[in-house]
Amino acid sequence: MNDVLATPVLVLNRYFQPVQVTTAKRAFCLLFGGTAHAIDEGGDAYDFDLWRSLPVRDADDVLPIVGGTLRVPRVLHLHRYERTPRASVRLTRRNLMLRDAHQCQYCGKQPPVRDLNIDHVVPKCRGGPDTWENLVTSCRPCNLRKGRKTPEEASMLLARRPYRPKWSLTAQILVGGGKFAEWEPFLKAS
Ligand SMILES: [Zn+2]
Repeated sequence: MNDVLATPVLVLNRYFQPVQVTTAKRAFCLLFGGTAHAIDEGGDAYDFDLWRSLPVRDADDVLPIVGGTLRVPRVLHLHRYERTPRASVRLTRRNLMLRDAHQCQYCGKQPPVRDLNIDHVVPKCRGGPDTWENLVTSCRPCNLRKGRKTPEEASMLLARRPYRPKWSLTAQILVGGGKFAEWEPFLKAS
């Protein structure tokens, strides 16, 4: 039962923009308290009583309750919440490599993870910061070749400008790779 309560649930603000990934436990609190509605696979919204009466499908995670079972919602709608917080995910080596799909941003190769480095686009020794916008995945040969130069000085073009992850990638990182199909329509736009 504890595992079920830890199932990730995507939370949307009133404009249906992702604001958070929470747990089923918290989602049920919000749903029961009337702060949120559950959204089903067809995009319809349900309050707690309506949601409780929904039949459980094979693919659902379920919570045993008195007198039956309760579907864990995949998506929750905070119908009064207006803010649009930025996606927030920790700046780590692992997450940087996930952002870059484990691909060297200079030559495009995808060597094993152990042969990948994190490269400062503007080198650290020249004031380049540790930020999403200044760090990229790089293979060891490219990292060596670039050395203490900027990409321009080394004549090494970046595949794309490094960026802070948006919600689509953040959700993927927060749930450890597997996203639910029900999340896709809401993550696409962000
Ligand atoms: Zn490379």
